[in-house]
Amino acid sequence: MRNMFSRACVAAGILSALVSSMPAKAQDLAVVGARVYSGPDASPMEDATVLIRAGKIAVVGDRGNVEIPPGIRIVDGRGKFVMAGFWNSHIHLIKPPFLVPDEQPAEVLDEALRERFTRWGFTTLFDIASLPGDVRALRTRIDRGEVVGPRLLTVDMPFFPEHGTPIYVRELWQQSNAPSAEVATAEHARSRAAAQIEAGADGAKLFTGSIIGGPRGVLPMSTDIARAVVAEAHARGKPVFAHPTDQAGLDVAVDSGVDVLAHAAPDAGAWPPEFVARLKAGNVALAPTLTLFDSELRREGVPESVLAKFVGTAQQQLGAMAIGGGQVLFGTDAGYIDVYDTHLEFRLMAAAGLDWRQILASLTTTPAHHFDQAATRGRLGKGYIGDLVILGSDPQEQPDAYADVRMTVRDGRVVYEADSAAAPSTPHHAR
Ligand SMILES: [Zn+2]
Repeated sequence: MRNMFSRACVAAGILSALVSSMPAKAQDLAVVGARVYSGPDASPMEDATVLIRAGKIAVVGDRGNVEIPPGIRIVDGRGKFVMAGFWNSHIHLIKPPFLVPDEQPAEVLDEALRERFTRWGFTTLFDIASLPGDVRALRTRIDRGEVVGPRLLTVDMPFFPEHGTPIYVRELWQQSNAPSAEVATAEHARSRAAAQIEAGADGAKLFTGSIIGGPRGVLPMSTDIARAVVAEAHARGKPVFAHPTDQAGLDVAVDSGVDVLAHAAPDAGAWPPEFVARLKAGNVALAPTLTLFDSELRREGVPESVLAKFVGTAQQQLGAMAIGGGQVLFGTDAGYIDVYDTHLEFRLMAAAGLDWRQILASLTTTPAHHFDQAATRGRLGKGYIGDLVILGSDPQEQPDAYADVRMTVRDGRVVYEADSAAAPSTPHHAR
């Protein structure tokens, strides 16, 4: 009896999964007559067509040479600019409606994901610290087709040093009744890293320099603890991110073998070429989060000259990475800060010395490569996953054209479409 009941439930579950996933099915789609940037190192293709079938890129070629199957959706690409879907490698889903996502109506989650992320061209997000289980629960609903959204990767709970929960997340942690994310011993850190990854986390996040306030200011994590997490994550093929804050936090991060610095570290001062060479030798990428520094200092009301100097140091570090051939991952800390608009980040990256190809690489090929997905993502080419972005203006002309998103397609499905493809975007920042 019990068996039959559960079997019937399984059957009903399969049926409802099929029905609910039908609208989520990849749509065959052709973008016709656009300028196509198939990758940051490729020559732009003029008057080109990108054909997506069954969720994958079927053809990228000259408009005249691509045969479009009858009955599929055609998007007029004339005057538009097409490239692979963007990654934001530093975000958080720690604010409503993303807390306890199982209790949220699908349309509320749809709208929040659209307005905060896919509307800015992101087809993949790396959440690098959230409350236990939240992002995995949201991902399950997206993957089932109940919620429309980008692909989500997550580190789940972060690792804080003992007595080192950052001052700015204490309230969130207390209110949520989540278990402490502090680790006191290498053994505890190792076993928690293993458990989180086994439960579905895609990496780990260390606070190697945690901002605790008070007379101490910044608390470094012990290198032994950091190394234990890195060893466990790497044994399972997963990357480790570090929040460094200052030079001590940078040293722990690099010495323990992390894969990504989740922020520039203006407190550490300008980076000489030797430090960039050390990052490069350790295969450590940088997510600059320039918008975070601007946003936090503005909130604190510091004088403009202080702000310019602090953000300027972060820009120097980013510029030194670019000059030294280091890896840069586009990342803004959106979701911790309430700035989702990407115009400012692109302007600050360009002012730091990155050209349009380097910025495109930070959005596409570098994260795909760094997170071992370069065979299927990061470029537009036959056989790649059908993730793409259509821009209304040309990033070769102005760097913040990357924020002028008219359409975002994930796995062959349109996940964002501007109301009027012809309308110019309104930059939210005056600068
Ligand atoms: Zn963050």
